[in-house]
Amino acid sequence: MHALITGGAGFIGSHLAEALLAQGHRVTAVDNLSTGRRANVAHLAGQLRFQLVVETITNEAVLDRLASECDVIFHLAAAVGVELIIRDPVRTIETNLQGTDVILKLARRYGKKVLLASTSEVYGKSAAVPFNEDADRVLGPTTKSRWSYAESKAIDEHLALAYHKQFGVPVVICRFFNTVGPRQSGSYGMVIPRLVQQALAGQPLTVYGDGSQSRCFCNVRDTVRAVLALAAEPAAVGEIFNVGSQDEITIRALAERVLARAGAGGPLRLVPYEQAYEKGFEDMQRRVPGLAKIQAMIGWAPTVPLDETLDEVIAYFRAGHTG
Ligand code: UDP
Repeated sequence: MHALITGGAGFIGSHLAEALLAQGHRVTAVDNLSTGRRANVAHLAGQLRFQLVVETITNEAVLDRLASECDVIFHLAAAVGVELIIRDPVRTIETNLQGTDVILKLARRYGKKVLLASTSEVYGKSAAVPFNEDADRVLGPTTKSRWSYAESKAIDEHLALAYHKQFGVPVVICRFFNTVGPRQSGSYGMVIPRLVQQALAGQPLTVYGDGSQSRCFCNVRDTVRAVLALAAEPAAVGEIFNVGSQDEITIRALAERVLARAGAGGPLRLVPYEQAYEKGFEDMQRRVPGLAKIQAMIGWAPTVPLDETLDEVIAYFRAGHTG
Protein backbone atom coordinates (compact mmCIF):
# COMPACT_ATOMS: atom_id res chain seq x y z
CA MET A 1 0.00 0.00 0.00
CA HIS A 2 1.14 3.54 -0.73
CA ALA A 3 -0.07 5.98 1.95
CA LEU A 4 -0.15 9.74 1.63
CA ILE A 5 0.06 11.44 5.03
CA THR A 6 -0.71 15.14 5.13
CA GLY A 7 1.03 16.59 8.15
CA GLY A 8 3.44 13.66 7.85
CA ALA A 9 6.29 15.50 9.58
CA GLY A 10 4.07 16.40 12.51
CA PHE A 11 3.74 14.68 15.85
CA ILE A 12 1.08 12.06 15.08
CA GLY A 13 1.91 11.99 11.35
CA SER A 14 5.54 11.02 11.91
CA HIS A 15 4.57 8.15 14.23
CA LEU A 16 1.99 6.98 11.70
CA ALA A 17 4.62 7.09 8.94
CA GLU A 18 6.95 4.98 11.06
CA ALA A 19 4.25 2.36 11.74
CA LEU A 20 3.23 2.12 8.08
CA LEU A 21 6.86 1.70 6.99
CA ALA A 22 7.34 -0.99 9.63
CA GLN A 23 4.41 -2.87 8.09
CA GLY A 24 6.14 -2.76 4.69
CA HIS A 25 4.06 0.01 3.13
CA ARG A 26 5.20 3.00 1.12
CA VAL A 27 4.74 6.46 2.62
CA THR A 28 4.66 9.93 1.12
CA ALA A 29 4.54 12.61 3.79
CA VAL A 30 3.49 16.08 2.75
CA ASP A 31 4.12 18.87 5.22
CA ASN A 32 4.79 22.59 5.01
CA LEU A 33 6.92 22.38 8.18
CA SER A 34 4.87 25.08 9.90
CA THR A 35 4.26 23.09 13.05
CA GLY A 36 5.75 19.85 11.69
CA ARG A 37 9.53 19.44 11.70
CA ARG A 38 12.00 17.82 9.34
CA ALA A 39 13.75 16.36 12.40
CA ASN A 40 10.61 14.30 13.18
CA VAL A 41 11.18 12.20 10.07
CA ALA A 42 14.95 12.58 9.65
CA HIS A 43 15.43 8.96 10.78
CA LEU A 44 13.09 7.78 7.98
CA ALA A 45 14.72 9.80 5.23
CA GLY A 46 17.13 7.03 4.21
CA GLN A 47 14.38 4.53 3.51
CA LEU A 48 13.50 3.99 -0.13
CA ARG A 49 9.83 3.54 0.67
CA PHE A 50 9.65 6.99 2.32
CA GLN A 51 9.59 10.47 0.87
CA LEU A 52 8.91 13.87 2.39
CA VAL A 53 7.39 16.52 0.15
CA VAL A 54 7.70 20.00 1.66
CA GLU A 55 4.57 21.70 0.40
CA THR A 56 1.38 23.24 1.67
CA ILE A 57 -1.73 21.12 1.26
CA THR A 58 -3.55 24.00 -0.38
CA ASN A 59 -1.22 23.70 -3.39
CA GLU A 60 -3.72 21.80 -5.47
CA ALA A 61 -1.42 21.09 -8.41
CA VAL A 62 1.12 19.23 -6.28
CA LEU A 63 -1.51 17.55 -4.14
CA ASP A 64 -3.33 16.39 -7.27
CA ARG A 65 -0.29 14.40 -8.34
CA LEU A 66 0.33 13.00 -4.85
CA ALA A 67 -3.31 11.96 -4.43
CA SER A 68 -3.35 10.26 -7.83
CA GLU A 69 -0.28 8.19 -6.91
CA CYS A 70 -1.37 6.88 -3.48
CA ASP A 71 -3.87 4.25 -2.32
CA VAL A 72 -5.09 5.93 0.85
CA ILE A 73 -4.87 9.43 2.35
CA PHE A 74 -4.35 10.09 6.05
CA HIS A 75 -5.33 13.73 6.37
CA LEU A 76 -3.62 15.02 9.51
CA ALA A 77 -2.41 18.43 8.37
CA ALA A 78 -4.10 21.11 10.44
CA ALA A 79 -3.51 24.04 12.72
CA VAL A 80 -3.53 22.58 16.24
CA GLY A 81 -2.84 23.63 19.82
CA VAL A 82 -5.00 25.94 21.89
CA GLU A 83 -2.28 28.57 22.20
CA LEU A 84 -1.64 28.68 18.44
CA ILE A 85 -5.36 28.89 17.74
CA ILE A 86 -5.75 31.91 19.98
CA ARG A 87 -2.60 33.53 18.61
CA ASP A 88 -3.47 32.95 14.96
CA PRO A 89 -7.17 32.27 14.41
CA VAL A 90 -7.05 33.20 10.71
CA ARG A 91 -4.47 30.54 10.00
CA THR A 92 -6.45 28.00 12.03
CA ILE A 93 -9.68 28.54 10.16
CA GLU A 94 -8.16 28.83 6.68
CA THR A 95 -5.77 25.87 6.99
CA ASN A 96 -8.39 23.58 8.43
CA LEU A 97 -11.13 24.44 5.95
CA GLN A 98 -9.15 24.87 2.73
CA GLY A 99 -6.89 21.88 3.33
CA THR A 100 -9.75 19.45 3.89
CA ASP A 101 -11.64 20.89 0.93
CA VAL A 102 -8.68 20.15 -1.37
CA ILE A 103 -8.13 16.65 0.01
CA LEU A 104 -11.77 15.58 -0.32
CA LYS A 105 -12.04 16.95 -3.83
CA LEU A 106 -8.96 14.97 -4.88
CA ALA A 107 -10.11 11.84 -3.05
CA ARG A 108 -13.29 12.01 -5.08
CA ARG A 109 -11.42 12.62 -8.34
CA TYR A 110 -9.15 9.60 -7.85
CA GLY A 111 -11.44 7.36 -5.78
CA LYS A 112 -9.21 7.27 -2.70
CA LYS A 113 -10.07 6.49 0.92
CA VAL A 114 -9.55 9.32 3.42
CA LEU A 115 -8.87 9.02 7.14
CA LEU A 116 -9.71 12.44 8.55
CA ALA A 117 -8.13 13.59 11.81
CA SER A 118 -10.66 15.42 13.91
CA THR A 119 -10.64 16.31 17.57
CA SER A 120 -12.39 15.98 20.93
CA GLU A 121 -12.57 19.77 20.78
CA VAL A 122 -15.71 19.39 18.61
CA TYR A 123 -17.65 18.37 21.74
CA GLY A 124 -16.84 21.84 23.10
CA LYS A 125 -17.71 22.55 26.70
CA SER A 126 -20.46 19.97 26.98
CA ALA A 127 -20.57 18.57 30.53
CA ALA A 128 -21.36 15.04 29.32
CA VAL A 129 -19.13 12.23 30.63
CA PRO A 130 -18.11 10.41 28.57
CA PHE A 131 -18.44 12.07 25.16
CA ASN A 132 -20.10 9.73 22.68
CA GLU A 133 -19.80 10.22 18.94
CA ASP A 134 -23.48 11.05 18.41
CA ALA A 135 -23.73 13.48 21.36
CA ASP A 136 -24.83 17.10 21.04
CA ARG A 137 -22.06 19.68 20.86
CA VAL A 138 -21.91 22.71 23.18
CA LEU A 139 -19.80 25.61 21.94
CA GLY A 140 -19.12 29.12 23.19
CA PRO A 141 -19.67 32.34 21.22
CA THR A 142 -17.79 33.21 18.03
CA THR A 143 -16.14 36.12 19.88
CA LYS A 144 -13.94 33.55 21.64
CA SER A 145 -11.17 32.39 19.31
CA ARG A 146 -10.82 29.02 20.96
CA TRP A 147 -14.05 27.81 19.40
CA SER A 148 -12.84 28.47 15.86
CA TYR A 149 -10.86 25.24 16.07
CA ALA A 150 -13.93 23.17 17.03
CA GLU A 151 -15.98 24.91 14.33
CA SER A 152 -13.39 24.38 11.61
CA LYS A 153 -12.99 20.71 12.47
CA ALA A 154 -16.74 20.20 12.69
CA ILE A 155 -17.15 21.65 9.20
CA ASP A 156 -14.36 19.31 8.04
CA GLU A 157 -16.38 16.42 9.46
CA HIS A 158 -19.57 17.65 7.79
CA LEU A 159 -17.78 18.01 4.47
CA ALA A 160 -16.24 14.53 4.72
CA LEU A 161 -19.59 12.95 5.56
CA ALA A 162 -21.22 14.92 2.73
CA TYR A 163 -18.64 13.65 0.21
CA HIS A 164 -19.34 10.16 1.47
CA LYS A 165 -23.11 10.52 1.24
CA GLN A 166 -23.29 12.38 -2.06
CA PHE A 167 -20.33 10.99 -3.99
CA GLY A 168 -19.52 7.72 -2.23
CA VAL A 169 -16.03 8.81 -1.13
CA PRO A 170 -14.87 6.33 1.53
CA VAL A 171 -14.11 8.45 4.62
CA VAL A 172 -13.36 7.51 8.22
CA ILE A 173 -13.28 10.20 10.90
CA CYS A 174 -11.09 9.89 14.01
CA ARG A 175 -11.72 12.29 16.88
CA PHE A 176 -8.40 12.36 18.70
CA PHE A 177 -8.51 13.13 22.40
CA ASN A 178 -5.39 14.43 24.21
CA THR A 179 -2.64 12.48 22.45
CA VAL A 180 0.92 12.50 23.79
CA GLY A 181 4.37 11.10 23.21
CA PRO A 182 7.83 11.98 21.94
CA ARG A 183 7.98 14.69 19.20
CA GLN A 184 4.95 16.56 20.48
CA SER A 185 5.92 20.20 20.74
CA GLY A 186 5.10 22.39 23.71
CA SER A 187 5.23 25.51 21.55
CA TYR A 188 1.52 25.49 20.70
CA GLY A 189 0.14 24.91 24.18
CA MET A 190 0.16 21.15 24.82
CA VAL A 191 0.54 20.55 28.51
CA ILE A 192 2.77 17.46 28.83
CA PRO A 193 5.73 18.62 26.71
CA ARG A 194 5.48 21.99 28.43
CA LEU A 195 5.52 20.58 31.96
CA VAL A 196 8.30 18.10 31.16
CA GLN A 197 10.52 20.78 29.63
CA GLN A 198 9.89 23.08 32.59
CA ALA A 199 10.75 20.28 35.04
CA LEU A 200 13.97 19.37 33.23
CA ALA A 201 15.00 23.03 33.17
CA GLY A 202 14.37 23.27 36.93
CA GLN A 203 11.65 25.85 36.37
CA PRO A 204 8.24 26.12 38.06
CA LEU A 205 5.53 24.02 36.39
CA THR A 206 2.75 26.21 35.01
CA VAL A 207 -0.67 24.88 36.00
CA TYR A 208 -3.48 26.91 34.45
CA GLY A 209 -6.56 27.79 36.48
CA ASP A 210 -6.68 25.90 39.78
CA GLY A 211 -5.48 22.65 38.17
CA SER A 212 -8.69 20.80 39.07
CA GLN A 213 -9.60 20.36 35.38
CA SER A 214 -8.88 16.86 34.15
CA ARG A 215 -7.86 15.19 30.92
CA CYS A 216 -7.22 11.62 29.69
CA PHE A 217 -3.89 11.23 27.89
CA CYS A 218 -3.41 8.59 25.22
CA ASN A 219 0.01 7.44 24.03
CA VAL A 220 0.53 8.15 20.34
CA ARG A 221 1.51 4.51 19.72
CA ASP A 222 -1.97 3.45 20.83
CA THR A 223 -3.48 6.20 18.69
CA VAL A 224 -1.60 5.05 15.60
CA ARG A 225 -2.69 1.45 16.20
CA ALA A 226 -6.31 2.62 16.22
CA VAL A 227 -5.91 4.66 13.03
CA LEU A 228 -4.35 1.74 11.14
CA ALA A 229 -7.03 -0.71 12.26
CA LEU A 230 -9.80 1.73 11.32
CA ALA A 231 -8.21 2.28 7.91
CA ALA A 232 -8.27 -1.46 7.28
CA GLU A 233 -11.87 -1.98 8.41
CA PRO A 234 -14.43 -1.62 5.59
CA ALA A 235 -17.33 -1.25 8.07
CA ALA A 236 -15.69 1.88 9.52
CA VAL A 237 -16.35 3.86 6.34
CA GLY A 238 -18.77 6.75 6.79
CA GLU A 239 -18.36 6.60 10.57
CA ILE A 240 -16.85 8.74 13.35
CA PHE A 241 -14.76 7.27 16.17
CA ASN A 242 -13.36 8.65 19.40
CA VAL A 243 -9.70 7.71 19.82
CA GLY A 244 -8.38 8.33 23.31
CA SER A 245 -7.79 7.03 26.79
CA GLN A 246 -10.26 6.93 29.69
CA ASP A 247 -7.53 7.19 32.31
CA GLU A 248 -8.41 10.56 33.84
CA ILE A 249 -6.05 12.81 35.78
CA THR A 250 -6.30 16.41 37.01
CA ILE A 251 -3.72 18.80 35.65
CA ARG A 252 -2.43 19.47 39.17
CA ALA A 253 -1.91 15.73 39.74
CA LEU A 254 -0.31 15.50 36.31
CA ALA A 255 2.20 18.21 37.21
CA GLU A 256 3.03 16.37 40.43
CA ARG A 257 3.48 13.14 38.47
CA VAL A 258 5.83 14.89 36.04
CA LEU A 259 7.90 16.16 38.98
CA ALA A 260 8.08 12.66 40.46
CA ARG A 261 9.03 10.92 37.18
CA ALA A 262 11.57 13.57 36.15
CA GLY A 263 13.06 13.83 39.63
CA ALA A 264 13.54 17.52 38.92
CA GLY A 265 11.67 20.76 38.61
CA GLY A 266 10.54 23.70 40.62
CA PRO A 267 7.26 24.12 42.50
CA LEU A 268 3.88 24.28 40.79
CA ARG A 269 2.87 27.77 39.71
CA LEU A 270 -0.84 28.47 39.29
CA VAL A 271 -1.44 30.76 36.31
CA PRO A 272 -4.88 32.34 35.81
CA TYR A 273 -6.47 31.35 32.49
CA GLU A 274 -6.76 34.91 31.24
CA GLN A 275 -3.03 35.37 31.76
CA ALA A 276 -2.22 32.06 30.04
CA TYR A 277 -4.55 32.56 27.08
CA GLU A 278 -6.84 35.59 26.80
CA LYS A 279 -9.53 37.40 28.74
CA GLY A 280 -12.71 35.34 29.10
CA PHE A 281 -10.98 32.11 28.04
CA GLU A 282 -13.22 29.08 28.43
CA ASP A 283 -11.68 25.74 29.37
CA MET A 284 -13.49 22.45 29.79
CA GLN A 285 -13.40 20.84 33.21
CA ARG A 286 -13.43 17.22 32.04
CA ARG A 287 -13.02 15.42 28.74
CA VAL A 288 -13.46 11.66 28.64
CA PRO A 289 -13.99 9.69 25.42
CA GLY A 290 -16.68 7.07 25.12
CA LEU A 291 -14.92 4.05 23.61
CA ALA A 292 -17.82 1.63 23.08
CA LYS A 293 -18.03 2.37 19.35
CA ILE A 294 -14.37 1.85 18.52
CA GLN A 295 -14.20 -1.20 20.77
CA ALA A 296 -17.13 -2.77 18.99
CA MET A 297 -15.70 -1.94 15.54
CA ILE A 298 -12.04 -2.98 15.88
CA GLY A 299 -11.66 -4.25 19.46
CA TRP A 300 -9.27 -1.41 20.28
CA ALA A 301 -8.37 -0.16 23.75
CA PRO A 302 -5.36 1.88 24.84
CA THR A 303 -2.59 -0.10 26.52
CA VAL A 304 0.23 2.29 27.47
CA PRO A 305 -0.01 3.64 31.04
CA LEU A 306 0.54 7.36 31.65
CA ASP A 307 3.77 6.83 33.61
CA GLU A 308 5.31 4.99 30.66
CA THR A 309 4.29 7.83 28.34
CA LEU A 310 5.75 10.42 30.71
CA ASP A 311 9.01 8.45 30.85
CA GLU A 312 9.16 8.41 27.04
CA VAL A 313 8.60 12.16 26.83
CA ILE A 314 11.16 12.82 29.58
CA ALA A 315 13.73 10.63 27.77
CA TYR A 316 13.00 12.46 24.50
CA PHE A 317 13.73 15.89 25.95
CA ARG A 318 16.67 14.57 28.03
CA ALA A 319 18.21 13.35 24.76
CA GLY A 320 18.50 16.98 23.70
CA HIS A 321 15.42 17.41 21.53
CA THR A 322 13.79 20.80 21.76
CA GLY A 323 10.34 22.10 20.95
N1 UDP B 1 -2.38 23.54 30.73
C1 UDP B 1 -1.68 23.88 31.90
N2 UDP B 1 -0.39 24.33 31.78
C2 UDP B 1 0.23 24.46 30.56
C3 UDP B 1 -0.48 24.12 29.38
C4 UDP B 1 -1.80 23.67 29.51
O1 UDP B 1 -2.21 23.75 33.02
O2 UDP B 1 1.40 24.89 30.55
C5 UDP B 1 -3.77 23.01 30.88
C6 UDP B 1 -4.80 23.59 29.91
O3 UDP B 1 -5.35 24.79 30.41
C7 UDP B 1 -5.83 22.46 29.88
C8 UDP B 1 -4.97 21.19 30.04
O4 UDP B 1 -3.73 21.63 30.59
O5 UDP B 1 -6.73 22.55 30.95
C9 UDP B 1 -4.68 20.48 28.72
O6 UDP B 1 -4.20 21.44 27.80
P1 UDP B 1 -3.71 21.09 26.34
O7 UDP B 1 -3.48 22.36 25.62
O8 UDP B 1 -2.59 20.10 26.41
O9 UDP B 1 -4.94 20.31 25.69
P2 UDP B 1 -6.52 20.67 25.63
O10 UDP B 1 -7.13 19.60 26.46
O11 UDP B 1 -6.73 22.03 26.17
O12 UDP B 1 -6.84 20.56 24.18
